Amino acid sequence: MSDFLENDICDIVQDILPLYHDGVCSEKSRMLVEKHVKACPKCGDLLRKLETADADEAKLIEERQHVLAHHEKQEKTLAMKIGMIIAALLLLPIIIMLLVTLSGGTDFRSDVVLISSMLLVAGLTVVPLISKQNRFAKMIIVSTLALLLVIFTTQQLFYHGSILEFFEIAFSVVFGLSIPFFPVILFDSSLPEGFQNKKGLITMIWDTVCFFLMMFTFGIAYPKALHDLIVAGSFGISLVWLIFLIVRYLPKHPLMKAGGVLLVIDAWFWLGIRQNWLTFEVGSYSGKILVAIYTTLALFGILLFIIGCIRSKMYPDYFKDKE
Ligand SMILES: [Zn+2]
Repeated sequence: MSDFLENDICDIVQDILPLYHDGVCSEKSRMLVEKHVKACPKCGDLLRKLETADADEAKLIEERQHVLAHHEKQEKTLAMKIGMIIAALLLLPIIIMLLVTLSGGTDFRSDVVLISSMLLVAGLTVVPLISKQNRFAKMIIVSTLALLLVIFTTQQLFYHGSILEFFEIAFSVVFGLSIPFFPVILFDSSLPEGFQNKKGLITMIWDTVCFFLMMFTFGIAYPKALHDLIVAGSFGISLVWLIFLIVRYLPKHPLMKAGGVLLVIDAWFWLGIRQNWLTFEVGSYSGKILVAIYTTLALFGILLFIIGCIRSKMYPDYFKDKE
């Protein structure tokens, strides 16, 4: 074999060497490379260089991950330390107040309210700093409990309110906070198998229970209004449930769902007027505007429903693709 030809083979082998190294060349190329590198020190050297470069890269990645993990750990330790410092700082005013109380300077009631207020501050700052996972959920839960404690101590010690009044306020607070925060807490946490894809349903049940607890405490406080509160409340809640069930569970085209939701809202509006649960004069100026809006809404709902119907007939595979 002449020098020229041998150099030619080297060139070819060096061209496919990266492919061989990645294991993506053809069987014939692989055999050619393996045979050649055994005989040719130059190409054999090149292959070994490729292999060591690979090992180096792997080592580099490993080192980088190690450094990142170390950093994360350091950050967590720092957060933990800051959390501890804030907790300690929160203890200071409490200790001072207690000392002043012991010497007869202030009222014990103020201390109790102060302590519960400090718990609220701790819930908002210390808890997210020292918890390792589900920080946001823990922060919301602890802060809500502390807030209820502040309301309870203030109300019982300074206003001599009844327990019923406390529960009225407590359920209203929990219901009000649940609407924005309960879904966030739920989506942040991992539920047991089986419940994992029922988070929307759990949120709805939780909010409904809170709502009726609130309504019942109002009803106990104002027995004459109990019937109206429960009836009007159920009327409103059932609309929310219907919308939820349509959107979440009805296996229909999205446009049909949207149309359905509009029609349900519309039906509730007319039903509310009919049953006198919505109090307004149909004949008045604002009444006429509302009637016009809801009539338009109904027509729009019907239109969306029909378009959805046609589209799901045109593309019957729509839901098969999604599953
Ligand atoms: Zn060679």
